[in-house]
Amino acid sequence: MARYTAANCKLCRREGEKLFLKGARCYTDKCGVERRKFAPGQHGQNMRRKVSAYGIQLREKQKIRRTYGVLEKQFHNYYVHADRKVGITGENLIQMLELRLDNIVYRLGFAPSRKSARQLIRHRHILINGGIVDIPSYQVKPNELIKIKDKSKNLELVHSALKEVGRGDDIGWIRLNKAALEGELLEIPKRSEIPLTANEQLVVELYSK
Ligand code: SF4
Repeated sequence: MARYTAANCKLCRREGEKLFLKGARCYTDKCGVERRKFAPGQHGQNMRRKVSAYGIQLREKQKIRRTYGVLEKQFHNYYVHADRKVGITGENLIQMLELRLDNIVYRLGFAPSRKSARQLIRHRHILINGGIVDIPSYQVKPNELIKIKDKSKNLELVHSALKEVGRGDDIGWIRLNKAALEGELLEIPKRSEIPLTANEQLVVELYSK
């Protein structure tokens, strides 16, 4: 399976903001964006170009895509599906990305980053309604019970993530039971309830050219 292997912090620095790709480190002063507030590469410190409308749209698309850790083609497929659905295309797009299993596992706080959440899922540590699901892109539906497999309940990664960067308690549309290491999507969140600072309308404008 294709995947992105370059340094995560470079992606944040390229977008000029924290995308929280590395878990606990992102909340410390070791964060790449905190330490080097300029784009990566030879000319990163001298980038003063005027950015075109296309450039702004492209950067917003890259920011959202990199935040959720989705490859280019897959991201475009999400857009095509979002455009076909009833409702606002941009909102549909963010909802579909948000309902990915890797994102929900991350939001529940079982993994320090979406990348780690993908690994937990691929290594078959996650159950949905009692059955193993090892597909990170699986779209979680309301009332499905997401659980850490009994045999995996002692995983240090899960416990340190819950302790250090746990975030499930703050989100109203998921229910987290830390003691049982399980959680549930209560409802499909509205755009305003999704903690993502991005302008998805720019992505719609980019793709609808
Ligand atoms: Fe991004 Fe986290 Fe690296 Fe900071 S530490 S630059 S937020 S991946």
